[in-house]
Amino acid sequence: MPELPEVEIIKNNLSDYLADKTFHSIEVFTNKLRYKIPHNFADSIKNQRVTNISRIAKYIIVGLENDYSLLIHLGMTGNFLINAQKMGHNDNKHVRLRFKMSDQSEIDYVDIRKFGFFKLINPQKAEIKKLKEKLGPDALSDEFDTKYLQESLKNRVTNIKSALLNQKIVGGIGNIYASEALFRAKIPPMMESRKVVKNKTKTGDLISSIKFILHDAIKVGGSTIRDHKNLKGESGYFQYKFNVYNRENMICNSQNCNAKIKKIVQTGRSTFYCEKCQKMRNR
Ligand SMILES: [Zn+2]
Repeated sequence: MPELPEVEIIKNNLSDYLADKTFHSIEVFTNKLRYKIPHNFADSIKNQRVTNISRIAKYIIVGLENDYSLLIHLGMTGNFLINAQKMGHNDNKHVRLRFKMSDQSEIDYVDIRKFGFFKLINPQKAEIKKLKEKLGPDALSDEFDTKYLQESLKNRVTNIKSALLNQKIVGGIGNIYASEALFRAKIPPMMESRKVVKNKTKTGDLISSIKFILHDAIKVGGSTIRDHKNLKGESGYFQYKFNVYNRENMICNSQNCNAKIKKIVQTGRSTFYCEKCQKMRNR
């Protein structure tokens, strides 16, 4: 599933192809995504120029000249392919939408599992404002700082790993990077949130670990959507070099640690951690 770094990269790559271009035509191969694509979808964005492209947590927002916006969520397996047909890669069964732009470029939306969605947002309804109200601050924003996290978790007994996945607390962190950030900050994933944030230094470590890992992943992720070859497989996303994620029973990467990475299930999701490195000492 794409997390914040992947969505940020996809957003940046899309900007290169969409910004200031006009939608020439849209082909809808299936309207059965997470939300049904309405009949007038193609007509509503046809001949509209793209004014800006932004991201809120894991949502991509494409602003149109008429003040409407296209709200995009990639679900589990959504991604974009650029000019795949022209490059002879027209055998992709999972192309759900095809956008043809004024400069002849073609952008295919591919989605194996069809949990992604496209929604045309009416500016009058202030849906973006509502969306922002539903979400906590973006993990990479300045708002997401020690003071904020201490305040929002100070009464929570839920474990810290699950709290990081709660998009109302912080927008954009998913299962993979939550495990990685806790490992980097040396915080046990099963610890009660309120106990973690009692320690200001640890809270600060957690915030900087989250931001470090997200930025690092964005840096190594480079050009996900241009690599059409990758997109035929189960997932087109790049693989960040994980320290704990998916490394059950493998030796911990920390220097001087030979413990094996453990896997547990928290709120129905897998968590990976090192028992030895992720210990919170009493203050
Ligand atoms: Zn370790």
